[in-house]
Amino acid sequence: MNESKHHEVIVIGAGVSGIYQIKRLVDLEVDAILLEGDEDLGGTWYRNRYPGCRFDSESYTYGYSWSKELLDEWHWKERFSSQPENLKYLNFVADKFDLRRHMSFGAHVDSMTWNEDERIWELDLASGDRYTARFVVTGIGVLSAPTLPSYDGMNDFAGESFHTFWWPKEPVQLEGRRVGVMGTGATGIQVIAEIADKVDELIVFQRRPNWSTPLNNSPISEEEMAEIRTRYDEIFANCAVTNGGFEHLPDRRGFHNVTPEERKALWDKLYSTPGFAILGQNFPEIYFDEDANREMSNYIAERIRGRVKDPAVAEKLIPKDHGFATQRLPLETHYYEAYNRDNVRLIDLSETPVERITKDGIQTTAEHHDLDVIVYATGFDAMTGAWDRMNIRGVGGVTLGEKWRDGPSTYFGLMTHGFPNLLMVAGPQSVSGSSNFPRAIEGGVGWVTRLLEHVRSLGITRVEPTSEAEKAWHETVVDVHERLLARRSRGWFTGYNSNVAGHDDGTVRYIAYWGGRPRYAEYITAEADDGYPGVEFATS
Ligand code: NAP
Repeated sequence: MNESKHHEVIVIGAGVSGIYQIKRLVDLEVDAILLEGDEDLGGTWYRNRYPGCRFDSESYTYGYSWSKELLDEWHWKERFSSQPENLKYLNFVADKFDLRRHMSFGAHVDSMTWNEDERIWELDLASGDRYTARFVVTGIGVLSAPTLPSYDGMNDFAGESFHTFWWPKEPVQLEGRRVGVMGTGATGIQVIAEIADKVDELIVFQRRPNWSTPLNNSPISEEEMAEIRTRYDEIFANCAVTNGGFEHLPDRRGFHNVTPEERKALWDKLYSTPGFAILGQNFPEIYFDEDANREMSNYIAERIRGRVKDPAVAEKLIPKDHGFATQRLPLETHYYEAYNRDNVRLIDLSETPVERITKDGIQTTAEHHDLDVIVYATGFDAMTGAWDRMNIRGVGGVTLGEKWRDGPSTYFGLMTHGFPNLLMVAGPQSVSGSSNFPRAIEGGVGWVTRLLEHVRSLGITRVEPTSEAEKAWHETVVDVHERLLARRSRGWFTGYNSNVAGHDDGTVRYIAYWGGRPRYAEYITAEADDGYPGVEFATS
């Protein structure tokens, strides 16, 4: 058994959250180390190397806001920057602030066990190394536990096949090949649109269509970037007052107070406006009023019909089981036009399900599709998957997976009862899954850092939210969720995943707080300002 190394704080994960968290701890001269399972930093932007992967947040709202120097130095080249550039950015940040020396790579945490006598966490790594820490801060991502289908024969396939999250680092040859893409969420839609004109043949295996609207991306010139830099304060101030953490402000005229023609005029404008304007600048009623949502959905359906030449294919691409914006909206670039190409075919798995994967391709109930490459864009065990996979044992040996079996229960998504000294920067039931991610986690990191400063100044050795406080937060999360039409969706917003046992029966898992970032910030700031009434502290 290796001797364990002790640190006051261990941060897990070198993605967007972990990089900022370790920066704050280094600034405070806390004895801290960051453990990352991958061979390098970047988290989601290190892993997701599939073609077409890019932000759908405006790049300049996605970057960190906490260093003026960084804001002045970095040039975002596109309004919605691509994965290679985003990874470059995170490396630039880590190098600029000399953070790599506080990170250990290839350090995959297999399990974590709370030692009540010592009031420390004991971490066991896949390498056999052991660490202990008074506090553990997780930055392990919200969509970092990829899930594959479990079709018969998946291992028999003789060509290349991978989940988009595990897209190889080496270039994958797609030109001249027959490629199958399974899954039409935000990832599948990006891949399909990007590779349609590059591959010999593209077969899309769609179980359920998603609503999708144009990204409207464009380059950012030196001059435009210089102008953006002068507006950074304003940009982040705008993001701070919107529910999604974007710059888009809702249309407050009232859906029912304007004519159908006026509504259509707004939607025509938003359809060609970049990014999530179509969500953020829309009438808020589309999220909770059936009539408003139906009219909006009909509008987008017409747009799809206008872009896809074959009416039968267009109908298959229009969701009939959920309204617009009730699942996570993928943004696209020429996605619908891909289906007008002769080399692209849509297979509707709701009509002809997959029977098995064969050595040469995919067999559905109707026919066999010969393929050289299969891309599984089949999603993630969202929000809780990364925690479940880590085997975290809290007070009395109970695992977090057991505690969260029917859905997570947390205090603001930052802590959870029964797991003392475990702090979650982007935990379930926070706003990390429901808003522009960096805008959300900067709040989470700030809160965690303030708590750790409080703890250090008072010599506190044990921190745990009360079960009453946690119950009250859970009720708040449920209350907001139940007001939205999204409550009926079957996407990851409700914790649904057909490939994960226990997450596939339609029971809602309340994985995110939907009340918006400004209100969430008020809650967590008040908690700290009021001396943490929902948290129990103990000294040695
Ligand atoms: P997803 O939205 O969960 O989509 C998964 C897709 O795979 C769905 O179409 C699903 O069909 C299909 N699928 C799953 N299991 C299947 C099976 N056994 N057989 C056939 N089809 C199956 O996952 P995602 O597209 O990876 O996106 C996840 C999230 O990542 C997004 O919502 C977004 O938050 C984030 N993301 C962000 C960006 C960005 O910022 N630019 C890009 C990509 C992803 P059903 O709908 O029938 O279940």
